Amino acid sequence: MSGTAFDRWLAVWLALAAASFVALLARPAQYGRYAPPRRRFSVPARWGWLAMESPAVLGFAAGFVAGRAPRGPVAWSFLALWLLHYVDRAWAYPFRLGDPRRPMPLEIVGLGVVFNLVNAGLQSAWLFTLSGGYRASWLADPRFLLGVALFGAGLTVNRLADARLRRLRAAGGYALPRGGLFELVACPNYLGEIVQWLGWALATWSLAGLAFALWTIANLAPRARSHLAWYRQRFPEFPADRRALVPGLW
Ligand code: NDP
Repeated sequence: MSGTAFDRWLAVWLALAAASFVALLARPAQYGRYAPPRRRFSVPARWGWLAMESPAVLGFAAGFVAGRAPRGPVAWSFLALWLLHYVDRAWAYPFRLGDPRRPMPLEIVGLGVVFNLVNAGLQSAWLFTLSGGYRASWLADPRFLLGVALFGAGLTVNRLADARLRRLRAAGGYALPRGGLFELVACPNYLGEIVQWLGWALATWSLAGLAFALWTIANLAPRARSHLAWYRQRFPEFPADRRALVPGLW
């Protein structure tokens, strides 16, 4: 892909993120708690997650192998960070789901596959070809160091919050989550995920990385708002000052 074609893809990609943000504010994606009870065209959630997220692992790895820029320690670091997140999300998370047989509409799976293919393609095309390769000195750059720290902090918050939700699920159905960041926001798992990809944007110092962070916000900020409304409706004891995603703000 040439640099100009890449820029065009990125512009379209960013416009689609903005459109998704607006659409998802109006209607949350119909999976998880919003999944219609019975659907003709659906698959069990476990297989849906596996199918949606696997292209992120495989597409990025293929981009790494096919990359034409010199492959130094920075490229290997980006590969390691990506796989740290996506091997778990694609191939472990689906087997930890509270209710793996819950139906997931096929259109969600299809959109997830397309999103992950395009996103993995854009990230890896930039990092491993179009950037021309990162010098080893980037490993000591404050943008890289702070970005990796944010990535690690976000990933930790996301995994701990998801684990807490899973324990609630194992105890039987939906419940009001308590403790840790759940005292401040309804969706600390989403907050962690957003911080993680903002860290990625900083560490890669790239428009492609920024586009991914913005897409993550477009997907998760509206969903966090829907979750907040859902909790308030379902649990009258839900604390009035608990926000959706960002303590004290959103
Ligand atoms: P949710 O928070 O809706 O659900 C996470 C898991 O916890 C699900 O198994 C859910 O069950 C269960 N759960 C949630 N709330 C409760 C509760 N109150 N009581 C009991 N169980 C509960 O997250 P998503 O399914 O939307 O996302 C899963 C992961 O994927 C998250 O880590 C998220 O950050 C990430 N993600 C990232 C995106 C991106 O753009 N980067 C986009 C979408 C998700 P059930 O599914 O049955 O509701």
